[in-house]
Amino acid sequence: MPDSSPTKGAIRVVVVDDHEMILQSVVRLLTADARIEVVGTALTATEGIEVVIQMLPDVLVIDYHLPDMDAPEAIRILHQAIPEIRIVTISGSDKPGSFYESMQAGSSAWVRKTRAIQELRLAILRVASGEPYISEGMEAQPNLDELVVHYQPIVDLENWRIVGFEALVRWQHPERGLLFPDSFLPHLVETGFIQEIDLWVLRQATLQLAQWQNDFPRTPRLFISVNMSYASIENPNLPTIIAEEVQFADLGVDDLVVEIRESFLVSNPQETVELLTRFNAEGIRLALEDFGASFSPISYIHRVPFDGVKIGRSFTRELPASMGTVWVIEGIASATQAMSTMCIAEGVEELAQLNSLRDAGMRYGQGFLFSPPARAAVCEGLLTRDSLLPYSAHAADATSSRVML
Ligand code: C2E
Ligand code: MG
Repeated sequence: MPDSSPTKGAIRVVVVDDHEMILQSVVRLLTADARIEVVGTALTATEGIEVVIQMLPDVLVIDYHLPDMDAPEAIRILHQAIPEIRIVTISGSDKPGSFYESMQAGSSAWVRKTRAIQELRLAILRVASGEPYISEGMEAQPNLDELVVHYQPIVDLENWRIVGFEALVRWQHPERGLLFPDSFLPHLVETGFIQEIDLWVLRQATLQLAQWQNDFPRTPRLFISVNMSYASIENPNLPTIIAEEVQFADLGVDDLVVEIRESFLVSNPQETVELLTRFNAEGIRLALEDFGASFSPISYIHRVPFDGVKIGRSFTRELPASMGTVWVIEGIASATQAMSTMCIAEGVEELAQLNSLRDAGMRYGQGFLFSPPARAAVCEGLLTRDSLLPYSAHAADATSSRVML
């Protein structure tokens, strides 16, 4: 018979998780390693504190999402009681700031919950020998001076003039080259650093727009759109910060549009509506982006006065073949026109899509057909050229209703 008694000198671990089944499977898998001995478990932070103090383990594994008490608060209490205890926080990726909060409270390790159990074991072994441990990807954080903003023009489909730009962040990585946001922003949601990036982009974008308004004065004035993460809009001070940034750049509050993803309304409808109402109070313009992609409850959408709606690529790419999509776009175009709300189709790549959008009554467009996001200097060339009639169109007549190949 194999000896199932704990190995002498094994690391004594207490596990606190809010989910019975997960807790049991974590314990089973951890104890498969002879170097680890699980001496106690608890389902809530309060009980966890009692168990930990009784058992005096070497390492505490604590889930960030615990009932009764915040994990950071429990971590602080335990550190005061047992200063030498090492703590491993496990966390799902849905709560911004969990990484920072846990490490600040005194965690020695932070492990993504979705990772394999081997990683948790590794973290326990590391912290038990006095080293910190952080799930891969969390350290991948740019310095602000490695970030650059690219701008993509938004075009009036009636006269092909640029009416505004969307600011899109990139990371000029010292070894890996230019990185696109999808490859680094999701990690930064956990660290909370995304909020710093949003504000940095806001500062660059507003200063850039002020310069362009000066160099390329036009009626109506050029505007700039910035993207805000949910972590940023959760900050109750954000509307005031934005108003101050706009003033700092010497712009009017109308010159800026803040893009909010429709999915925010789906995951936290009530909370998001309340947060967005604060933007309205400051006079900040909001655009709902990826409209229609997440099936957000229409009742919530009309409770927030959006100044703009962006129809996502998932719709544009169905054009011109899908009649259903054409009808939906016609409906959105006429509804937004009636409400004097700006409606922009994103992801316009082909002339056939452009024609279909114009036929459906869409007034504004954005996409590779006009220009990909580009450095500010390139955008200045576009502004000098003024008309962004698609480069592949041979019909030079911008007033014609149909662009011909
Ligand atoms: P988004 O706000 O939906 O931005 C539009 C994305 O579509 C951009 O990707 C743009 O390059 C791409 N795009 C534009 N036209 C076309 C087209 O014709 N075809 C195709 N296939 N793609 C097109 P990018 O720059 O990689 O940005 C991805 C996402 O990252 C953005 O999606 C936005 O959600 C996020 N993001 C970018 N900058 C920031 C930022 O400063 N803060 C936050 N919170 N998010 C940002
Ligand atoms: Mg956007």
